[in-house]
Amino acid sequence: LLKVANLQKRFGDHEVLKSINLEVRKGQVLALIGPSGSGKTTVLRCLNGLEIPDGGEVSFSEGPTVAFVPGTTQKQAQVLRTRSAMVFQNYNLFPHMTVLENVIEGPVQVQRRKRKEAVSAAQSLLGRVGLAEKQDQYPHELSGGQQQRVGIVRALALKPSLLLFDEPTSALDPELVGDVLKVIKELADEGWTMVLVTHELAFAREVADEVVFMDQGVVVEHGHPDVVLRNPRNERTQQFVHRLL
Ligand code: ATP
Repeated sequence: LLKVANLQKRFGDHEVLKSINLEVRKGQVLALIGPSGSGKTTVLRCLNGLEIPDGGEVSFSEGPTVAFVPGTTQKQAQVLRTRSAMVFQNYNLFPHMTVLENVIEGPVQVQRRKRKEAVSAAQSLLGRVGLAEKQDQYPHELSGGQQQRVGIVRALALKPSLLLFDEPTSALDPELVGDVLKVIKELADEGWTMVLVTHELAFAREVADEVVFMDQGVVVEHGHPDVVLRNPRNERTQQFVHRLL
């Protein structure tokens, strides 16, 4: 479904992504793990057109291919957003809009779908995650866990072929993490294709088909969760997983 080849990104002198290669098959859940600053979030942002890589190629099997060269514009990068939708660490909901308005904003304003249909699809998705009653409330009236479930619904409402999760539970109080992980697990079981950046290694082991360990802007090791998380070959991976598991 997605192929990433030789992705490179620098911020000033700092080469944040050196040459990232990834492949995600349809229905696959890929967990991206690694130390803070290794470039995981930057990978997701490049996949979603939020960041413009300096080089490399991102291609969707049934959709756009963007080959990045110096001078690639934001607009060219943003075509990637027709295929993927992102769930952010800090939810990124629009504070002045109700839950329902947050969810239908993309479908109506960007995808030009009919408002009535977008509302009914949004209501059914909100019902699925136990938030039907909250549709007319504002984000600040919800708990972090509820806000993040709205964030997930907002991504689903765009009907993407790929869901991108950027540390979706790391801003949550521990007692709220479970509800959000449960929703992500259900989506994985339903066959959604996803790339999940996470520090929750136990969850990655449970949900991922493949785990990619990144450090200092390169993929150090990738493979089946049982190998990468239990029996990694690379020393840096070993140190990382033993600290966290
Ligand atoms: P974390 O787990 O802490 O979120 P990460 O692996 O997701 O880390 P990134 O957020 O991708 O790492 O950041 C990688 C590096 O790029 C960091 O050193 C960060 O400071 C730097 N960086 C990210 N965005 C920018 C930016 N807009 N300008 C300058 N430097 C940036």
